Amino acid sequence: PRTPITLLGAGAMGTALARAWLAAGHPVTVWNRTPARAEALAADGATVARSAAEAVAASRLVILCLLDDDSVGEALEGAALAGRDLVNLTTGTPAQGRARAAWAEERGARFLDGGIMAVPPMIGAADSGAYVFYSGSAGLFEEHGETLAVPAGTRYVGADPGFAALHDVALLSAMSGMFAGLSHAFALIGGEDIRPQDLAPLLVEWLAAMAPAAHASAAALESGDYTKGVVSNLAMQVAGTSTLVRTAQEQGVSTELLSPFWDLMARRLADGHAEEDTTGVIDLLRTR
Ligand code: NDP
Repeated sequence: PRTPITLLGAGAMGTALARAWLAAGHPVTVWNRTPARAEALAADGATVARSAAEAVAASRLVILCLLDDDSVGEALEGAALAGRDLVNLTTGTPAQGRARAAWAEERGARFLDGGIMAVPPMIGAADSGAYVFYSGSAGLFEEHGETLAVPAGTRYVGADPGFAALHDVALLSAMSGMFAGLSHAFALIGGEDIRPQDLAPLLVEWLAAMAPAAHASAAALESGDYTKGVVSNLAMQVAGTSTLVRTAQEQGVSTELLSPFWDLMARRLADGHAEEDTTGVIDLLRTR
């Protein structure tokens, strides 16, 4: 028999999770603040609970996939949590993950926080690359690892309940930088006789080729020596930046997305770090 699951939250993501567990034969009890969204899952075999407390009482393993941390607190108010295994897949900050873990432990529950690295259509789809970062109770993760691996891959990143969120947000933040760069690149060719469809594959190939720079930065951070093995030094990169700025001006494109990064590189160079690459920018960003 498959482990019974209670799921609080039948939004876009919660519904995708529920369908994956139902398809794998897990009994699923679902609750949603707006009942209609939970009832849509009844056709797939889910049991619909009338309240969050009733849903929590139905299974030891309780998955939360709500809008934000406040909605988790609201939904669980009044539910008996002693002896429950709470897995919170609601996106939050590291501090929220830690506070929610302490809150759950005070109420006698084990707690695992999760950060979903996927969009709903990737959930339960074979080879989609979807996975979830988990952190918090190692015992909970060991016991329910197989069940948690049904909708998406699992990556346990430590006992600190804030680490899943921290990994999640680190990856999303890096992605934001990439989206900023893509926006700027497409803006540059706007109005020219270059098709966005022709630039796109070049951008994909180039970004994939450059992404391993993360390994070089990691090695520099670990050793504390930011100059070892540098192939594109900061002095050269800052000089090259002026070409990027002038091209943006020629093309009538604002540099507002990229100039903050370029300014930091120039500051690091002015501080006397010509032989580094851009790793030193990390030191400028850290404010404590
Ligand atoms: P939706 O907006 O589709 O669903 C939000 C859910 O939260 C609904 O079930 C909603 O209930 C519920 N909710 C909101 N406020 C409260 C409250 N105060 N009390 C109780 N329930 C509440 O969002 P998703 O399902 O897409 O997202 C859920 C979580 O998954 C979020 O934390 C999101 O960041 C995360 N996630 C989503 C991804 C995505 O691509 N969709 C990707 C990765 C993570 P109701 O139906 O009553 O409004």
